[in-house]
Amino acid sequence: MHIPFNKPYLTGKEAHYMYEAVFLGKISGNGAFTKKCQRFFEEKYGFRKTLLTTSCTDALEMAAILIDIKPGDEVIMPSYTFVSTANAFVLRGAKIVFADSENETPNLDANQIEELITPKTKAIVPVHYAGMACDMDKIMFLAEKYNLFVVEDAAQAIDSFYKGKPLGSIGHLAAMSFHETKNVISGEGGMLIVNDERFVRRSEIIWEKGTNRAEFFRGEVDKYGWVDIGSSFLPSDIIAAFLFAQLENLEDIQSRRRKIWNTYYNGLKPLEERGHIRLPHIPEYATNNAHMFYIVCKDLNERDDLIRVMKESGINPVFHYLSLHKSPFYADKHYGRELKNSDMYSDCLLRLPFYYELKEDEQEKIILCIRDFYEIRQKIEEIYERREEE
Ligand SMILES: *Cc1c(COP(=O)(O)O)cnc(C)c1O
Repeated sequence: MHIPFNKPYLTGKEAHYMYEAVFLGKISGNGAFTKKCQRFFEEKYGFRKTLLTTSCTDALEMAAILIDIKPGDEVIMPSYTFVSTANAFVLRGAKIVFADSENETPNLDANQIEELITPKTKAIVPVHYAGMACDMDKIMFLAEKYNLFVVEDAAQAIDSFYKGKPLGSIGHLAAMSFHETKNVISGEGGMLIVNDERFVRRSEIIWEKGTNRAEFFRGEVDKYGWVDIGSSFLPSDIIAAFLFAQLENLEDIQSRRRKIWNTYYNGLKPLEERGHIRLPHIPEYATNNAHMFYIVCKDLNERDDLIRVMKESGINPVFHYLSLHKSPFYADKHYGRELKNSDMYSDCLLRLPFYYELKEDEQEKIILCIRDFYEIRQKIEEIYERREEE
């Protein structure tokens, strides 16, 4: 039995809608399916404005342009995140000020932000890791106090909430991903969410290569031209057609994923109770959108051993995010502070296979494999302890 880490799920309608897009004869960006997807998000979650992009990376780059990041500006974000969170701002010359994660979750520790703010700070970029909310009230309070922008990296956070508010709707801007490893997918794909009225008009111009083409097609201006900087951030309508099939099945996808998540949680709970591993912690202000399931091992060696044992059984877990402040690109630019929790998650976090079609017996096999691993470890430890006593 081979169990991959991820398997993209198809609802069955994707090819049908893609054919329809082709048949309609307009397959460039901002077509009928793009509008349907954007409307879906605006109606369901009350986002002020949404724009599909070719990736979440692109949406983050648009956000950096929109808040006018300039060389020397400082942007505060967690070190434990994907490179795109930082890259988008580095591309515009920002200095990244990495903050540590909380101990209980890999999310940015909101209590450590204020001491990192300087007159050059322009933005805070919280990442909702595993789709579980950062402490947004604290972050928005600081943003208001120091006049900063908040860009939510909501790549993993579709259909998740903070105190009842949808993630992606709280910061001035937010970015979501539809990469094939996320809950809802289009291969590559993403979306910019614009919540602040001030950015609504310009976001569309940047999206359309710096032109006011979208306004022209709505009949709001009588000619269109080059009015700002921008790029080609919009995906083909064929991609949007694929995405729309997924969105129509969001409820089904989410309920299946929650079931898988709960099976892992209940199956591995005894190991947490015995102190072997830590399971995801969901703060009381956050919901769980079942984006991923991770465990936290004791240290790097133990995680390496566990990965080896799982691979021998045909199971493919993955670890990720080497702290960005220690990356080959950024280590010599980091301001020096040690980020203990970020490094701890880099060394100890392990993601288990997680996808819609993961079968019950496969999941059982994964859970048993991890339980056996720790049971054997414990027996060996007990033997050593007894020997020492003798
Ligand atoms: C997946 C992911 C991204 C990048 O998304 P793409 O759509 O692949 O560009 C950015 N940030 C986080 C936290 C992610 O998980």
